[in-house]
Amino acid sequence: MLEARNIAKSYTAGPVSVGILKDVSLTLAPGEAVSIMGPSGSGKSTLLYILGGLEAPSAGTVTLDGENPYALDEARQAAWRNRNIGFLFQDHCLLPQLSVLENVLTPALVDGTPSDDTQQRARRLLDQVGLSNRLAHKPGELSGGEKQRAALARALIRQPALLLCDEPTGNLDRKSADTVADLLSALPKDMMVVVVTHSPDLAARFPKRLEMHESSLRVR
Ligand code: ADP
Ligand code: MG
Repeated sequence: MLEARNIAKSYTAGPVSVGILKDVSLTLAPGEAVSIMGPSGSGKSTLLYILGGLEAPSAGTVTLDGENPYALDEARQAAWRNRNIGFLFQDHCLLPQLSVLENVLTPALVDGTPSDDTQQRARRLLDQVGLSNRLAHKPGELSGGEKQRAALARALIRQPALLLCDEPTGNLDRKSADTVADLLSALPKDMMVVVVTHSPDLAARFPKRLEMHESSLRVR
């Protein structure tokens, strides 16, 4: 269960403090998926970073199954993220020198050489996203849609409790965006998912639809 309570975030630049988020609360139970829309600059990415243990809120608390990542030291916080959170960004962020299969396995490397099970799982995920014939390709040899599907397989390799997607189809053509949207609509039933998007089509696929309005979340 994800519980974000009364989250606020402001950035200070010189004498000025700019409020980005105020009093944002969001609760997700296992299996719940939500989309968030809202204008550019309204704090959507900031909220995802806060939920994912990447950026401490100025006020409020985030807990995942009762654990507050911001109460952990840096190393434990990184381990918490690696264990619990999958990220899918607008830019795929694949490592160009590694093959598709190696990219998908990178989050598993913190535990040492990936086990046979993990390698099987990586191949299965790549099969599910339609890339079983691209295992040895480098990211530079893939289309935009294929790169994003590889990034999704990578985000899922550690079976995260929470998948956070930041405009995952923002750079894709219509057909590739539809394919990624189909995959995001068919995630494991117990996974919690937050998808930030400008696409009404993608947003509409999720049972719970929110939007950022005046620094806070409201139901769309
Ligand atoms: P969105 O994802 O909705 O487009 P962001 O969360 O990226 O919005 O940004 C919200 C606001 O916070 C923007 O005005 C941006 O300039 C500001 N902001 C984001 N990150 C920082 C930072 N590290 N320092 C200062 N301001 C920031
Ligand atoms: Mg953003």
